[in-house]
Amino acid sequence: MPNCDWNRPCDCRDCREIIETHVCPSCQFPNKVSVIRNAYWEEDKKHGGGYYLFVNPKTPVKDLICYECGDPMKEVGYYTSIHEDFCKNQKERAKLIKDERYCVNCDKLEELDFDFYGRVKLTLYNQLNLCRSCLIDAVKVENPDPSNATNKFKFDPSKLIWALYRVKVTCTTCESAYWVNSDEQSWRKQCKKCYGSKRGKKTESSFP
Ligand SMILES: [Zn+2]
Ligand SMILES: [Zn+2]
Ligand SMILES: [Zn+2]
Ligand SMILES: [Zn+2]
Repeated sequence: MPNCDWNRPCDCRDCREIIETHVCPSCQFPNKVSVIRNAYWEEDKKHGGGYYLFVNPKTPVKDLICYECGDPMKEVGYYTSIHEDFCKNQKERAKLIKDERYCVNCDKLEELDFDFYGRVKLTLYNQLNLCRSCLIDAVKVENPDPSNATNKFKFDPSKLIWALYRVKVTCTTCESAYWVNSDEQSWRKQCKKCYGSKRGKKTESSFP
């Protein structure tokens, strides 16, 4: 129920509307209809104030034309209108499912649903359609983090690879081990301590 009137009882159209489904016997399409209920104010004599009572209208009982196949359904009950947006959405969903345009891992539909990266895009991986999030998980399962005692890798989601980013090296001065970023490895030959204390004698450390 919408929170439209600061949680006070409300009888606006949104609060009175419910969505009902009528499955077509010919094509199984779940037709969505909107039912605008009648609202009656009930006074709460004991506690003061009151609330709205919503009642589904019973009449007129209507027929319904299936949004998908056009077959008529006789006397489905009362409804106010066909819910075009929901029906359109259901139709698109049904088509994508039929065409197998969904992630086989999480069932999200291509372009219609969202994953962590936006609208779902599918990638074929090991013959399976996967959304971006599930693709990354699958690649990681097949290619575990190769990090070890001297190399640390970080997963690059855009290239789908483990990229080297930290390396453990030995200080040329004091011979203690320390970590550097892989792209700084070529010039960081000393640990922080030695680099800091021997700033003036740079040449010394450039010899192996
Ligand atoms: Zn309302
Ligand atoms: Zn139908
Ligand atoms: Zn997925
Ligand atoms: Zn050192």
